[in-house]
Amino acid sequence: MGLGAEAIFGDSVVTTKLDKAVNWARSYSMWPMVFGTACCGIEFMSVAAARYDLSRFGAEVVRFSPRQADLMIVAGTISFKQAPVLKKIYDQMCEPKWVISMGACACSGGFYDNYTTVQGIDTIIPVDEYIAGCPPRPEAVLDAIMRIQEKSQDESIIKDRLKNFKGYLDA
Ligand code: SF4
Repeated sequence: MGLGAEAIFGDSVVTTKLDKAVNWARSYSMWPMVFGTACCGIEFMSVAAARYDLSRFGAEVVRFSPRQADLMIVAGTISFKQAPVLKKIYDQMCEPKWVISMGACACSGGFYDNYTTVQGIDTIIPVDEYIAGCPPRPEAVLDAIMRIQEKSQDESIIKDRLKNFKGYLDA
């Protein structure tokens, strides 16, 4: 015979930890902030549209509102002129937050190996998941979102996320 709430309520209640409940809700209701600057931004649109249907993963609320977003998706080439804007938007997002670097340009500058292009956004902001490809397939984007969902299951509401990141624009 069980003890505690289960003994009284049987199968009609489920007990869990607060962290588990918050992480479960958070991971299946991500709000992406898409920083789309080039063709990868168009590719992201196909991920959100009917065929690949991002809403199946609870992440279709794309509102371009950094203070409400918790998942930044950088989709496209980032120039040095845009880098401070990217960082400012990232800084405006509340914790906990995650970043996906989508496509060769965001991950490494792609074939734009020149003086105007940032050679990887991880020199500016911390990146949680990288997606290879030029452009990446929609399935790869969905895969990265699922990996972020897995990572978000390990968060705790009473602990800050450890971040030792220092990029070019950090003082
Ligand atoms: S990775 Fe390819 S598809 Fe994506 S922004 Fe760069 S050039 Fe365009």
